[in-house]
Amino acid sequence: MQTWRERLEKGYREFKSGDYVDQKALYEELGTHGQNPDIMLIACADSRVDPTDIFNAYPGEMFVARNVANIVPPSGDDEAYHGTLAAIEYAVTVLEVDVIVVMGHESCGGIAGCLAGMGDTLNAGFVGSWVSILNDAKNKLINEHGDADDLQFRMELEGVRQSMRNLMTYDFVQDAVENGKLILQGAYFGIVSAELLLADENGEFSKV
Ligand SMILES: [Zn+2]
Repeated sequence: MQTWRERLEKGYREFKSGDYVDQKALYEELGTHGQNPDIMLIACADSRVDPTDIFNAYPGEMFVARNVANIVPPSGDDEAYHGTLAAIEYAVTVLEVDVIVVMGHESCGGIAGCLAGMGDTLNAGFVGSWVSILNDAKNKLINEHGDADDLQFRMELEGVRQSMRNLMTYDFVQDAVENGKLILQGAYFGIVSAELLLADENGEFSKV
């Protein structure tokens, strides 16, 4: 059984003698002249849903922010030391990406925690506090579909919709969207079947 350190060093050596060699010129170009990605991805921190795997991206192609349950908080919440918002602001105002994709996923632990009420109690830790951002969406969903068999799936989609609405509460996002410089896109990844769903302008998801 290898230790975590052996695992990291083994993986690094394989990368250095494999993908890095294949993409050496690209790494040199990116390292020398900087990044210029067109796509920003907001995805869950979950180890099973790496956007650069799912979209087969090269280094430099996608600007990725990952957090628990791929949530964008609304403007006006406590934004002290807010990593996700810093990444979004940088992507929109400096990198001027063409699109922000918010990607939810199957069997999301953060969404399950929100549904289980983690965000309903004080002192629920950082995770409880974070997923409470989706409490209004969760309560509305439970009122309408509380006994549905696919409540978790519905909440995973609703979380994406809520984060997209929250994105529009930031002036720099709203301005870029209204000026035609930025598109907001919802997405969903099914882990078992590698199914990808994309949302239309009404927030309805369908298979790619
Ligand atoms: Zn997740």
